Amino acid sequence: MIYLFCGLFGGAVLVAICKPLFSQDDTLESAIIEETAWDLLQRKKEIILGNIQDLDFEHKCGKLSDEDYQKIRGEMAGEVSLVLEEIDGIESSQDLDALIRHEVSVRKSGSHEPEPALCPSCGEKNIATSKFCAECGAKLIG
Ligand SMILES: [Zn+2]
Repeated sequence: MIYLFCGLFGGAVLVAICKPLFSQDDTLESAIIEETAWDLLQRKKEIILGNIQDLDFEHKCGKLSDEDYQKIRGEMAGEVSLVLEEIDGIESSQDLDALIRHEVSVRKSGSHEPEPALCPSCGEKNIATSKFCAECGAKLIG
């Protein structure tokens, strides 16, 4: 009886595993529009981890030989680590993006044209680096 149950369950699991594989292109394409690559990778990770759980279950049920189990599990573990690496890459590049945006904004605010130096005597706007007023020759502050 337990074998029948495992067989039925295993079959259902296989369908569940294979179905998203076949329709992956559609779901990926539509998902890319709405989701970021990071979201996608997180979902991919969840799916693979779920598959590993299912695989463990099938192995426990005796549906998979140790050899097959180790092989498939190794492949899935490899996939997970790849996905995790990609997630890491995205997370660190997002940090980099934030860093770059910060640097750029600092540079932008720092590269403003220097305030013109107003002559205390006649009010003429002189270049900030001028020491004397171009209009009346008065000494400029700063
Ligand atoms: Zn002046």
